[in-house]
Amino acid sequence: MLTQSQLSERLVNHGQPSYRATQILDWIFKKRAKAWDEMTNLPESLRVDLAEHYPLRPLKHTLTKGSEDTTRKFLMELADGRYVETVLIPASPALYGERSDRHTLCVSSQVGCAYGCKFCASGLDGFTRNLSAAEIVSQIILAEEMSGEKVNNLVFMGMGEPLANFKNLCLALEMITSDWGLNIGARRITVSTSGLVPQIKKLAELPQQIRLAISLHGPDDVTRDKIMPVNRKFPVNELFEALRFWNLQKNQKITLEYILIDGVNAGLDHAAILAKRAASIKAKVNLIPYNTVEGLEWVRPSDIACREFQKVLFQAGVSATLRLEKGHDIDAACGQLRLKKEKGVL
Ligand code: SF4
Repeated sequence: MLTQSQLSERLVNHGQPSYRATQILDWIFKKRAKAWDEMTNLPESLRVDLAEHYPLRPLKHTLTKGSEDTTRKFLMELADGRYVETVLIPASPALYGERSDRHTLCVSSQVGCAYGCKFCASGLDGFTRNLSAAEIVSQIILAEEMSGEKVNNLVFMGMGEPLANFKNLCLALEMITSDWGLNIGARRITVSTSGLVPQIKKLAELPQQIRLAISLHGPDDVTRDKIMPVNRKFPVNELFEALRFWNLQKNQKITLEYILIDGVNAGLDHAAILAKRAASIKAKVNLIPYNTVEGLEWVRPSDIACREFQKVLFQAGVSATLRLEKGHDIDAACGQLRLKKEKGVL
């Protein structure tokens, strides 16, 4: 999949008028054509040529799992036989400030992940490959088709570290936000990262007003080192310097994601440092009691301990949500996306 200008240039190089690009993008994004053959306003020879060289649908839907709260997890097969998961959450988390009748889609950016955050299921099997921009965008098209719902909000919190696939992420963002593409407002898109400092700065310089969420999970280096190996490369002070740069460029509050793990990062001393850090960049904090991950041994703190932690943030004037996660029963909550053997398809 190409942007409008890239597609137009390629078509002109092949002797086609540039307006063919507009026609093709209209078929892909607005009319949702499933085959080149459906594009009846293109000459037949061009349709045949395109069909021979470019697969229109790089993903195939394989399996849907629904949960009690109607969160749905879609398993999608890539052309090379690998799989990704995409999760549709009907009620947007309050944290993103959206109304509850909206649909949020959590998309994957890589097959597997190289970053190995200790709480996360996605990294357990290591990194396989980046998704192309077309594979990222197709998750949205396919999820809308499978559910019959319009996706209003997008979070890059599925499998993979989106900023480690920076080029394809930027290309996908252009397709998602452009009026010739999916036309989803940039303010409805959140990119979540483990904290890749150089890419955060580059992302801050993009013109789109997208939102940023940081998987923080430790307010100081000693704690964060235990949970996030990436912290050894980009320690907390460096990360917060990049976040201050973000604040200068964008008019969007940063969200700090913080999974509460008993005996690791959920003490009141941790809360006090976190409160200071969050206040210094005017960020809001999303507290997520740890979810059980098969194969990992950490424990969720008691509800009372979680509330006490939140109280410390409130007392420091920091906005903090304590999230009752959607999709827990189908392993679709943040950090739980991992391809499992499903009915013999994997
Ligand atoms: S939290 Fe994100 S960056 Fe860390 S291992 Fe999981 S998918 Fe990768």
